Amino acid sequence: MKILIVEDESKIGDYLRLGLSEAGFVVDVARNGLDGQHLAMTGHYDLLILDIMLPDVDGWRLLQTLRESGHSTPVLFLTARDSVDDRVKGLELGADDYLVKPFAFAELLARVRSLLRRGVAPVSETLFIIADLELDVARRRITRAGRRITLTAKEFALMELLVRRRGEVLPRSLIASQIWDMNFDGNTNVIDVAIRRLRAKVDDDFAVKLIHTVRGMGYMLDAPGDAVT
Ligand code: CA
Repeated sequence: MKILIVEDESKIGDYLRLGLSEAGFVVDVARNGLDGQHLAMTGHYDLLILDIMLPDVDGWRLLQTLRESGHSTPVLFLTARDSVDDRVKGLELGADDYLVKPFAFAELLARVRSLLRRGVAPVSETLFIIADLELDVARRRITRAGRRITLTAKEFALMELLVRRRGEVLPRSLIASQIWDMNFDGNTNVIDVAIRRLRAKVDDDFAVKLIHTVRGMGYMLDAPGDAVT
């Protein structure tokens, strides 16, 4: 499996190259956006790891160019930019996942493996239908059984995360880093409170429950009859 890293900070680039090589991947590193774009278009990679703030061509543009030219290579954004808006923009442009620096290598590796398992992922998928739930990411709309549900921006981001990774148990630490940009502190119940609010809107009035608590592990979205992968 061949991975391209586009990262101008040499320390991070070298660290990733070493770690991913040791994990058995073939790794190329581009130090600026232009080289990265050229390699991404011609190099037949299984996965791209893209920084956003890059010399020449930034990560947004690189991804946009790549998608416009029909490349569906899975893309993981790795970036210091951490606002929810940035993340949403990345996902809407067709990124498959997002990791905010600083990150734990073990988490990066888990994400990389998960993206590669999905194969040619539905990278630009923005409409999800699960049981009677419809989530339209592009239009920021969510309905159940045709009934419109109003969510806050954070609730929507949380719902989108659960839906995009449906069938996967998401640890509280992962949810914390993805939605709240924070390192998870076991003493905080912010995640549980947010899930409870989300359930009240999305699940409580419906017979089929979609958001599940996996005791001691985290949360998972799933519909009855789904094969858990
Ligand atoms: Ca950078």
